[in-house]
Amino acid sequence: MSDHTPDTGGQSDRLVSVEDVSFSYTAREVLTDISIAVDRGEYVGIVGPNGSGKSTLLRLLLGLHEPDDGWIELFGHPAGDFIDREKVGYVAQDVTENTKRMPITVKEVVLMGRFAHVGFGRITSADRERASEALATVGISHLADRKITHLSGGQRQRAYIARALASEAELLVLDEPTVGVDAESVDAFFELLADLNDDGMTILLVEHDIGAVITHASRVICLNRELYFDGDPASFAASDALDRAFGTNVRREDEVVPS
Ligand code: ADP
Ligand code: MG
Repeated sequence: MSDHTPDTGGQSDRLVSVEDVSFSYTAREVLTDISIAVDRGEYVGIVGPNGSGKSTLLRLLLGLHEPDDGWIELFGHPAGDFIDREKVGYVAQDVTENTKRMPITVKEVVLMGRFAHVGFGRITSADRERASEALATVGISHLADRKITHLSGGQRQRAYIARALASEAELLVLDEPTVGVDAESVDAFFELLADLNDDGMTILLVEHDIGAVITHASRVICLNRELYFDGDPASFAASDALDRAFGTNVRREDEVVPS
C-alpha cells in the first residue's frame, strides 16, 4: 500500500486495516490477534459483551493506543502517525464528561470541525455556512445557540456528528452513541446514520443493541477479546457466534476460552 497516494489509486478504498493486533493495558490481554479491514462505504457494527475490548479496539485504530503486536493503518497510513485527523469523526463513549468542561454553544462545537481546514487562517463565512449545513443535516439547526451542556444525550450525539460532517470526515467512528438516548430518538438516530451511509459515509459503530446492528449495519463484527464473527448480518443472526462470545464473558479468567 502506497504512503504517497492515499487519495488515489486502487488501494484508496481501504479506510481501516487492522492486522493480527494484540493489546493489553496490564498483564491480561484485552485483544488477541484481531484482524479487521473496513472499506469505503461500509456500515460496520461491532458488538460484544461489556469489557470485551470494543472501545479499546476503536482507540487502537484511531492511533490513541499502540498495539503490542500487529499493525494498524488508517487511510493507508500507520494509525500512530496518521495526520489527516479531520478525515475521521470520532464520537467517544460518554462524551458527557468532556463537554461538562466545555460550556460552549452547539454552533461553536460544530465550527470546531472547520479548524483543520482553515490552517492559520480565519474562520470564514463559507466555514460558518458549512457548519450550519452540517447542523441541518443532523436535524438540530434549532439548537445552534444552545449550550452543548444543555442538550439531551441524543441531541449531543447529533452535534458531534455535525462536527464530523463539518470537518468533512470520511469515516465516522461511534462508540455506543445511543446509551442514555430515549427509544424514539434512537430510531431517528439510526435513520440518520443510514442516510449518512447512503450518502457515502463509512460508519464504524460500537453498539450494545444487537438487534439494531443486525437491522441497520451492512456487516457485523462480534468480539470478546478474540474475533468471533465478521460477516453479513443475516449470517450473524443465524450463527452461534453471539452465544459463544457472550458465553465466554461469564467464565472465570483461568478457564480456557474456546476458539
Ligand atoms: P468494552 O468497550 O467492550 O466494554 P473496553 O475496551 O472498554 O471494553 O475494555 C476492555 C478491557 O480493558 C476491560 O477489562 C477493561 O476493564 C479494560 N480497560 C479498559 N480501559 C482500560 C485502561 N485505561 N486501563 C486498564 N484497563 C482498561
Ligand atoms: Mg466500551
